[in-house]
Amino acid sequence: SRTPVTVTVTGAAGQIGYALLFRIGAGDMLGPDVPVRLRLLEIPQALKAAEGTAMELDDGAFPLLAGVDITHDARVAFDGTNIALLVGARPRGPGMERGDLLEANGGIFGPQGAAIEAAAADDVRVLVVGNPANTNALIAQRHAPSVPAGRFTAMTRLDHNRALSRVAGHLGVPVADVSRVAIWGNHSATQYPDLTHALVAGEPAAARLDRSWIEDDFIPGVAKRGAAIIEARGASSAASAASAVIDHVRDWTLGTAPGDWTSAALPSDGSYGVPEGLVCSFPVTAEGGEWRIVPGLDIDDFSRARIDASVAELIEERDAVAALGLI
Ligand code: NDP
Repeated sequence: SRTPVTVTVTGAAGQIGYALLFRIGAGDMLGPDVPVRLRLLEIPQALKAAEGTAMELDDGAFPLLAGVDITHDARVAFDGTNIALLVGARPRGPGMERGDLLEANGGIFGPQGAAIEAAAADDVRVLVVGNPANTNALIAQRHAPSVPAGRFTAMTRLDHNRALSRVAGHLGVPVADVSRVAIWGNHSATQYPDLTHALVAGEPAAARLDRSWIEDDFIPGVAKRGAAIIEARGASSAASAASAVIDHVRDWTLGTAPGDWTSAALPSDGSYGVPEGLVCSFPVTAEGGEWRIVPGLDIDDFSRARIDASVAELIEERDAVAALGLI
C-alpha cells in the first residue's frame, strides 16, 4: 500500500475546516487511491473543538484516512508535510485598521512560512485561504526562501467557480459547457472576473452575452457573492470555499483538463505586466504538479484597466507589509 500523503490544515476547527476535512478524508482531493495523514493546526483555545472534529473524522471510518494529529505548534504541524492548507487567519475585528489586520496576519503567516521552510517535505505545496490571502501567501513565501516560490499559492478558485456558475445560470446551460473564464488580481472586491476568452460549448461566450450584463451584473455579482452568502445564510461561505480548496489542489496535483484552464493566485513571473513576485491571480493550467500562467492572451483596454486596478491594490498591500517589516 502507498505511503500516506501528509496534509496540514490550519484553522482546522473553523467553518471551512469543518467542511474541508471530510472531503479530504473521503479522497476527493488527491484521488481514490491515495491515503492521507491529516495534521490539524489550531490556536490553543480552539484545540478542544479540533479534537471534536477529529472524533467525527474517526467516526467517518474513511478507508483512506491513515491518521489525524492535532497540535498548536507550527513546527509539529508542518513536519514532513506535503500539502499545507493555510485556512486559519485573523479576521478583521471592529475598528481594526488595514495595517492592524496585515500586522496580525504577518504574525501568523511569517512563522508558518518559517516552519514550512524548516520542516516540510521537499515537494511541499501551499495553498493560502485565510484573508487577505494573496498577501498572506506572499508573507509565508518570503519566510521560506529555499522552497521554490511557485509552491506558494492563494485561492481564487471559489471566485472562478462562482464565475462559471453565474455564466451557466444566465445562459441556461450546464456548468460543464462553460470554459476559459479567468479571475485576475487580488482575492478581494477589486478582483477582475474576465469573460473575454470564455467559451460556451466551445463557442465564444461573448457573442451570447451583452456588455451591460457583464459589467453591471456579472462582475460585481462575482466579486460580491461572499457578502450575498452572508446575507442569506447568516454565516460566511464555508462548504463552497472548502470545495474550491479541493478543486485547486486536485488540479494542481493531477492536472487541469485539456483545452481548459482555471484560476489561481501565484507569484508573478512578470506575465501581463504584473510585477515579478507579487502573488496575483491569473488564468493557469497545471501539468506534472506545476502551475503555468496561460501565455499570450489578448488583453483589451477594459480588461487592462481592471487588472491594473487590482494589481495596484496588491502592490499597496505588499508595500504595507514591507513597511511593517513583515517581508
Ligand atoms: P472560516 O473557516 O470561515 O474562514 C477561515 C479563513 O478563510 C478566513 O480568513 C476567511 O476570510 C477565509 N476565506 C477566504 N475565502 C473565503 C470565502 N470565499 N468564504 C469564506 N471564508 C473565506 O473561519 P472560522 O472563524 O470559522 O475559523 C477560523 C479558524 O482559524 C478558527 O478555528 C481559529 O481558531 C483559527 N485561527 C488560527 C490561527 C492560526 O493558525 N494561528 C489564527 C487565527 C485563527 P474572511 O475572514 O475574510 O471571511
